[in-house]
Amino acid sequence: MQNRTFLALVVDKEEEQVHSSIREIERDSLPEGDVLVEVAYSSLNYKDGLAVTGRGKVIRRYPLAPGIDLAGTVVESDSDQFRVGDTVLATGWGLGEVHWGGYAQLARLETDWLTPLPAGLTLKQAMAIGTAGLTAMLSVAALEQQGLQPDQGAVVVTGATGGVGSLAVAILARLGYQVVASTGRAEAQDYLQNLGASKIIDRAELAEPPARPLVSGRWAGAIDVVGGSTLASLLASLKPEASVAACGLAGGSDLQTTVFPFILRGVNLLGINSGTVPAEQRRELWDRLARDLSPDLLDGLTQVIPLAAVPDFGHKIIDGQIRGRVVVDVNG
Ligand code: NDP
Repeated sequence: MQNRTFLALVVDKEEEQVHSSIREIERDSLPEGDVLVEVAYSSLNYKDGLAVTGRGKVIRRYPLAPGIDLAGTVVESDSDQFRVGDTVLATGWGLGEVHWGGYAQLARLETDWLTPLPAGLTLKQAMAIGTAGLTAMLSVAALEQQGLQPDQGAVVVTGATGGVGSLAVAILARLGYQVVASTGRAEAQDYLQNLGASKIIDRAELAEPPARPLVSGRWAGAIDVVGGSTLASLLASLKPEASVAACGLAGGSDLQTTVFPFILRGVNLLGINSGTVPAEQRRELWDRLARDLSPDLLDGLTQVIPLAAVPDFGHKIIDGQIRGRVVVDVNG
C-alpha cells in the first residue's frame, strides 16, 4: 500500500512574516486534479527564490508548497492521456504560486499542465532545463519567428550566467549563432565560453540608459532577463527590423524608452511568458530542448541540492549568487 503521507517544503505566512519548513502532509489533503505524480526532482528558479523567501509576492494562498517545476512518475491517473508509470514534467500554470508545486514528494495536477518526458532526457536533466530552459527556447523560437537567422550578426543574452541566460547562450550557440554574453561576473569567462559564447561583455555596458533614443545598431537579436534600463538600452541599439525577447526583470521592472526604435528602425519588443504555453507548443519546445542541448553541457551547468537547502538557495538566487541551474532532489 502506498504511504498515506509525504514530505513537502511548506511556506506559510503569519502576521506578514513568511516562514518555511519541511512538513509531513496527508496525501488526502492534496488539491483536486486528474493525475497524481510521485515527484523525483524540482528546480530553483528566480520566482521560486522570491516565493520561498517571501521577498516577492509570488504565492497567492498560504500554506503552499512552492516549486514552479517538477518531474516524476505518474502513480494514479483519471486522465486518458497519461497512464500509471509514465514519466512526466510540469512547469508553470500557477504551480508553486496558486497550486501546490514541486517542492513535495507528491503532486496532484491537471492533464493539460503535464508534458511527457521527452525522449533522450532523464528526469534530472528535465529539471536542469525546467522553466528556465523552456523560457530560453520560447525566446529563441520567438526571435526565429521574426526571421532571425545566424548569418544576420551577433545576438546578445543578458544575465548570461543565470538559469535562463546560461541555457539561452547554449541553445543559440548550438544553433550556430554568434552569441554575445552580457554578465556582471568577470570570473565567468571560461564558463560562458564553454557554453558557446563567442564574446563576453560587462553588464555595466548595457545598464546605463541609452544616451540618445537611437544609438549604433549592434544586435541582430537579443534575449533579455534583466529589464529596466538594460532593456531600454537594447531597444536603442538593435539593428533595423531586429527583435528583443523580453522575459525577465532581474535588474528592474520599469521600462523607459521612446517610440523611435519602433518607428524609425522597425524593431520588435517580444513579450515572453512561459507559464501558460499551450500543451502542443510546449511539447514541441521540449522536443527541441532535448535535441538542441548537449547532456554533458547540461550536467556541467547544474548543481543538485536537497529540499532542506531550498530556503538558503532561495536567498542566493535573488542576490544573484547562483550560476547556471539548481536541481532540487525532493527525496534527498
Ligand atoms: P537567475 O537568478 O538564475 O538569473 C538572473 C541573472 O540576471 C543573474 O544570474 C545575473 O546574471 C543577472 N542579474 C541579477 N541581478 C541583476 C541586476 N540587479 N542587474 C543586472 N543583472 C542582474 O534567474 P532566472 O534565470 O531563473 O530568471 C531570470 C529572470 O527571468 C527573472 O527575472 C525571472 O523572473 C524571469 N523569468 C521569466 C520567465 C517568463 O516566462 N517570462 C520564466 C523564467 C524566468 P549575471 O551575473 O551573469 O549578470
